[in-house]
Amino acid sequence: MAAQTVLQKLEILADAAKYDASCASSGTAKKNSLGGKGIGSTEGMGICHAYAPDGRCISLLKILLTNHCIFDCHYCVNRKSSNVARARFSPQEVVDLTLAFYRRNYIEGLFLSSGIVKSSNHTMEQIVEVARILREEHDFRGYIHLKTIPEADPEIVHQAGLYADRVSINVELPTDSGLTRLAPDKDARQIEGAMGKVKADLVEAKDARKRFKHAPRFAPAGQSTQMIVGADAATDADIVGKASRLYDNFRLRRVYYSAFSPIPDASAVLPLKRPPLIREHRLYQSDWLMRFYGYKPTDVMQATEADGNLPLDIDPKLAWALKFREAFPVDVNRASKEQLLRVPGLGVKAVSKILASRRHRALRLDDVARLTQSITKVRPFICAVDWRPITLTDRADLRSLLAPKAEQLELFAA
Ligand code: SF4
Repeated sequence: MAAQTVLQKLEILADAAKYDASCASSGTAKKNSLGGKGIGSTEGMGICHAYAPDGRCISLLKILLTNHCIFDCHYCVNRKSSNVARARFSPQEVVDLTLAFYRRNYIEGLFLSSGIVKSSNHTMEQIVEVARILREEHDFRGYIHLKTIPEADPEIVHQAGLYADRVSINVELPTDSGLTRLAPDKDARQIEGAMGKVKADLVEAKDARKRFKHAPRFAPAGQSTQMIVGADAATDADIVGKASRLYDNFRLRRVYYSAFSPIPDASAVLPLKRPPLIREHRLYQSDWLMRFYGYKPTDVMQATEADGNLPLDIDPKLAWALKFREAFPVDVNRASKEQLLRVPGLGVKAVSKILASRRHRALRLDDVARLTQSITKVRPFICAVDWRPITLTDRADLRSLLAPKAEQLELFAA
C-alpha cells in the first residue's frame, strides 16, 4: 500500500478528533475558502475554537496523533474493532503541521489527543514529545491542550503538564457501571486516581511559584474532563451529581458534555438514536448555574422531572423556580444577591446592575426591563415599586406561558 501523505493523514486524524468535545467549538456559520475562492475559511481540516483562560476565543489545530487503538471502547469510532481508515503521525509531523498553521495565522494553539498504540506509556511519551519539541526546540508560545492517558505512568503525565497549558483526562461515562459495560479496558478508579495526581501536581506547582518566582509552571489553564451523554442509562441527575463530585474532588476547570452521536460502524450495544442536542445544552446550563449562580447540585437535581432528567422545553433555572414558587416573588429593591440570582431571566450582569442602581433609587419594573432580554419571563417572579405579580406564580399554566414557543420548522431550509 502506498504511504499516506501528510494531507491524507490530516484528513483522517482531524476527522477522528471531532468527537472530542473538551475543546469546545464555537457555533459560527461555516465558510469555505478552499480552492482559492475568497479567504478566511472557518472549516479548515482540524481547526476548532476554544476559550483561553482569559476568555479570548482561540483557534486550535485539533488532531489525533493516531487513530489506531488497542482498546475497544464501544462508543468510540477509533476502537480496535472499528472498520475505519487508520493513520498515524510522527511527533515531528505534528510539530511541523502546528508550526506551519501557526505561521500562516490559522491557529493559535494545538489540541492533541490519541488512540493508544503499543502501550499507554509509549503513546503518552509520543504526545509529550510533540509538546517538548514545540516548546524547547521552537520556543512555541501558543496554547497547548494535551489529552492524557489515565493508564500511563504518572511521571509521564507530569511531563505533559510541564509543557501544556491545559491537560485533560476523560471520565468518559457518568456511572462506573456504564464505564464497565461500554469501555471494558478502562477502570474508573484508575481514571480518578490520575485526575487526583494531576490535581496534586497543580496544587504543588502553585505553591512552589508562590515561594520561587521561577518554579516551573504546571498546566496553568488547569485540568478538564469530558462525559458522554446518552450512551448509557445515566439520568441528568446522575450526570450532575458526578460532575459536581469531580469539580469538588479534582478542582476541574470544566466538565464538558458530549451528546453521544451514532458513529460509523457502531457497536450493537449502543443506542441507535442520539439523545436530543438540547439535552447537552440543558446540562451546560445547569453546570453554569452551579459555577456562577450559587446553585448546589441538589438544587439542580430538584429541577429534574420524575425520570431524573431535566425538562427539555424550559431551562433548569425556570424549572427550579416553577417547582419552588414559594421562594417568589423577590423584591428587586430588597432581596439579597443570592435571591436575585434565582430569578428566571436575570443574569449575573443584570443582578450586579440591579444591586448598583438600587443604591441610588427605588427600582420600577421598567428599570428592570431595561436590564433584561425578556421582562415577560422575569415579571412573575419579582416585585418592584410599581409592580406586584399577585397571583401569577400560582397559575397552573405558568410553565406553558413562559416556555419558549416551539419554532416552526422550515420545509425548504438548507
Ligand atoms: S482508548 Fe480512547 S481512542 Fe481508544 S477506543 Fe477508547 S476512547 Fe477510543
